[in-house]
Amino acid sequence: MKTRPGICNRKRRFPTREEAEAVALQADVTLRAYKCALCKQFHLTSRTKGLRVPRAV
Ligand SMILES: [Zn+2]
Repeated sequence: MKTRPGICNRKRRFPTREEAEAVALQADVTLRAYKCALCKQFHLTSRTKGLRVPRAV
């Protein structure tokens, strides 16, 4: 996923996917964590279309 710098700067950042997903689980909406190519950290997105949702293991 392409991330624009403005988006990156506005969004919350998480140093690890685990942290991002922990926050995502507490949200009211479905959020997905993804790695940002700009800051190399993780952001959350509510746009799940086109993203493969891994099965819980
Ligand atoms: Zn970023």
